[in-house]
Amino acid sequence: MTRSLLVFFVATTTGCTAAQLANTSAGYREVEKTVATVLISDAQEAALGQQIRKELDTGTADRPALKYCTDAQVNGYVEGLIAKLTPHADKDRPSKWAVYVIDDPKTVNAFVTPGAQIYVYTGLLMMSETEAEVVGVLGHELGHVVARHSGRQMVNAFGINAISEVALGKDPGTLAQIAAAIVGNGAMLAHSRSDENEADTFAVKYSAAANYDASGIAGFFEKLIATHGNTPRLLTWISTHPAPADRIASVNQQVMDQGLAGRGELGAERLAPIKQRIAALPAR
Ligand SMILES: [Zn+2]
Repeated sequence: MTRSLLVFFVATTTGCTAAQLANTSAGYREVEKTVATVLISDAQEAALGQQIRKELDTGTADRPALKYCTDAQVNGYVEGLIAKLTPHADKDRPSKWAVYVIDDPKTVNAFVTPGAQIYVYTGLLMMSETEAEVVGVLGHELGHVVARHSGRQMVNAFGINAISEVALGKDPGTLAQIAAAIVGNGAMLAHSRSDENEADTFAVKYSAAANYDASGIAGFFEKLIATHGNTPRLLTWISTHPAPADRIASVNQQVMDQGLAGRGELGAERLAPIKQRIAALPAR
């Protein structure tokens, strides 16, 4: 992809001048988002999400296939939390949400792929102390979907030509290639700091809308730092989600500014039995 071609395309479809849009990195992010919105339909995102799921389920020598949690109570608990949040996210961008719980209590992680497919590791539930913390992380992942971060990243990573081919159905193989590349290099996990901050604002928004303590995601970060000190890079979620200290401050500021401090539920008593259940699942 050449940047000038991309800017030209968007400028002609939105009426903005290329100079206005490309002058700043924030402007360039908006260009990518607009291209993603124009070119990548929800159906195509869904198809890509399915393709990525196939890749994740297959695994490779370097990357074992995902193992899903089969405990109905644990799965139902996570699905219930998602169901509390998605009506609010749907007001920003209606999506066909799906959530998969991965049976891996040692990995503290959650991620979302194109097509609103959310993956949550049991290790994330084990690390959290309250339901509000889990909800904060889930709200953050929903925010990535609502703000079209994956589509924007795809335009950035693969170029407008490849994305156009997928959009026009010219080359069905391109979709599979993009899915393999996304899984292979972990592109779906690595977000920019701007994307992270934007997703955090959605975490606050959706947590509050679902009547949870809106600082849950900040509490989750604090827990990670307290538990793992200066080695947060060992934790996948943190290593792909930069600058936790800055983000704690930013989330807490938003909570204060919006008058949300001390409001909403924590729900620690509902998470506790689920954690006990995960701990008692057969060893894997
Ligand atoms: Zn994120």
